[in-house]
Amino acid sequence: MLREPAVTHARRISISGVVQGVGFRPYVYRLARECGLHGWVLNAERGVEIHVEGSEDRLERFARRLRAHPPPAARIAVVETADAAVQHFGDFEIRISQKHTIPTVRVSPDLPMCGDCLRELFDPADRRHLYPYINCTNCGPRYSIVRSLPYDRARTTMAAWPMCAACLREYEDPLDRRFHAQPVACPACGPQYALEIDGETLRATAAIERAAQLLCDGAILAVKGIGGYHLACDARNAVAVAALRERKYRKERPFAVMARDLAEVRAIAEVDEAARELLESVARPIVLLPARETLDGVAPENDEIGVMLPYAPLHHLLFYFDAPRALVMTSANRSSEPIAYEDDDAQARLRGIADALLVGERPIARRVDDSVMRPAAFGAAVLRHARGCAPQAVAQIESRQTILALGGDLKNAIALAVNGTVFLSQHVGDLEQRSAYDAFRQTASDLCAMYEVSLPGAIVVSDAHPQYRSSALAHELREDAVSVQHHRAHVASVLAERGAWDDRVTGIAFDGTGYGDDGTIWGGEIFDGSLRDGLKRVAHLRPAQLPGGDAAARYPVQCAAGFLAQIDAPPMCEPPFGFPRERYDRSREMLAKNVRVFTTTSVGRLFDAFAAIAGFTREITFEGQAAMWLEHLARSHHGAMAAYAFRFDDGELDFRLALQQAVNDRVNGRDPAEIAYAFHAGLANAIVKACEAIGNERIVASGGVFQNALLLELLFERLGDRLWINRSLPANDGGLALGQIALASVR
Ligand code: ZN
Ligand code: ZN
Ligand code: FE
Repeated sequence: MLREPAVTHARRISISGVVQGVGFRPYVYRLARECGLHGWVLNAERGVEIHVEGSEDRLERFARRLRAHPPPAARIAVVETADAAVQHFGDFEIRISQKHTIPTVRVSPDLPMCGDCLRELFDPADRRHLYPYINCTNCGPRYSIVRSLPYDRARTTMAAWPMCAACLREYEDPLDRRFHAQPVACPACGPQYALEIDGETLRATAAIERAAQLLCDGAILAVKGIGGYHLACDARNAVAVAALRERKYRKERPFAVMARDLAEVRAIAEVDEAARELLESVARPIVLLPARETLDGVAPENDEIGVMLPYAPLHHLLFYFDAPRALVMTSANRSSEPIAYEDDDAQARLRGIADALLVGERPIARRVDDSVMRPAAFGAAVLRHARGCAPQAVAQIESRQTILALGGDLKNAIALAVNGTVFLSQHVGDLEQRSAYDAFRQTASDLCAMYEVSLPGAIVVSDAHPQYRSSALAHELREDAVSVQHHRAHVASVLAERGAWDDRVTGIAFDGTGYGDDGTIWGGEIFDGSLRDGLKRVAHLRPAQLPGGDAAARYPVQCAAGFLAQIDAPPMCEPPFGFPRERYDRSREMLAKNVRVFTTTSVGRLFDAFAAIAGFTREITFEGQAAMWLEHLARSHHGAMAAYAFRFDDGELDFRLALQQAVNDRVNGRDPAEIAYAFHAGLANAIVKACEAIGNERIVASGGVFQNALLLELLFERLGDRLWINRSLPANDGGLALGQIALASVR
């Protein structure tokens, strides 16, 4: 007969990270029992606490398996293990949680539906068969339903639905997959979906089935999802797509597509291994992929398409009921407003856009858009940090000070440092619109409330731009708000992500617009220094005068007029250039008279100028459009390699020669794709030249321009792993807030 080995050792294990609300305790419970250990597990202030006792080799096995295979949704930050006194427990149990004093516990981002729930959803024998709010501890909403911490049902938007006896049994059983799954529900006790159509209201399965049918018939539907409403229509119905563009006032900006499954994604776009991983990753983001199929009106003049897989049970149900295999799924709003997430607001705002609303009863606590990512040879790029990502910890800082950073006015996102951990909010958007500004204020107070931060004791930091709305709020919150220069914050965001406080680096910050130390608009800046000692601007793009204020950013031709004023330009209104005469002449006039012109070092605007020369002579309808167009044009180049020449002299990156070469090439009939490529390659060479002159081994690149995957490829070819870029943050202004915190923390 086998005898139980003697209980000789005990260990206390503390685990921090995203470990609550993700099935960690039941997992530990099962694992401890499997390993034949006694003791307990509980949710503590900073994560999960475990006491295990047994023989030494069993404890070893337990620790090994805990590290190697944590629950799928958990994100372990730190594991601390210490020897403890053996207390001879007779069993292993899940203990009642300790009262939280400071909620430093991390809220899990929303999770996509898991495989077990998917099987139950389509199992006719299961009591949640076809139930759109099915979930378990391994999946389902988190951040989007939490009203306050700690995370338990009474503080979520599920508080209004008391569990039925069957759900409660699962909820209370440590061996059940739904043990303490806060949003657990079933058709008997939980919320449902409803659809109002032709004066009648359909509920539950009938509503979803009808919605799928309406989509097949070419209707535009507003569909309530996890973090807000989507506007959906058949992606292969050009009439529906055109109607959606018209009703939403969205001219050309690409729509995202939700594909029924991976096979369908492959029909639409090129999917390599890295792309598949991203598509199936926990964030289930919109993944930008090379398009294979042209879906009329979905991504006009774009060889890339944004595709995502279903992530909520409702999405799977729509496809199950034969909705079109590829659906446009775009944030429900008009042009640049924030996404609608409250039912009354959605009814009011979407009435003129959607033919019908498929409304779920579970309220959404806060808006969270879909995240956007792009796979790349040098690692995935996050372009929009939102659902499935927020509010994850993005960095650790040394200071224990509470710091609130408000980001910038474009692609706004907010960051909060609590006890040395920095949390980044979901993407908020552009703040010019009143409704977006309200969303911004709401997100700032929401983030502070969630972590019980009081502002009187905190440092508040914002961009140095005196006219930014985010800067104004910073000063409203605290008179002594700190400001951080835009491009230093970009460089700092990369260093902070890596915890590189002392590395001396050359920092390249290229973007569209940022307020400079001298009050002009910067955007082509090169720094030397470190996070701790500060970043000194040592070089920049040669300044240009651009005519017409904000309009310069909307009309590449207007931008081109400014840059071209520094070289011998031929008549640009004639072929092959064909610049619109009135706009170009007016720009030249402003430049000649020196009225309504501004000085800038913006590389974003330099991209616009080269785009105009290569043929993009109309107005842009979304930010970055001309630069994206130029990048895609360059990728279509298959000729001899060439690069335009930028000079680097005395801290100035001089574009004049490159500009002259591009103009001459165009006059001489060179393929615009070659011109676009030669510009990218020339700029990459110029960066390398500047880095050689400055001399640091380590190079850091951030700012909106580095969303350009071709430019990054060319840079990695030249610099290899000397180059650091953002990892889990966007390189655009969505990552500014972390840089602001990092620089404010060492001030
Ligand atoms: Zn599940
Ligand atoms: Zn129930
Ligand atoms: Fe920027």
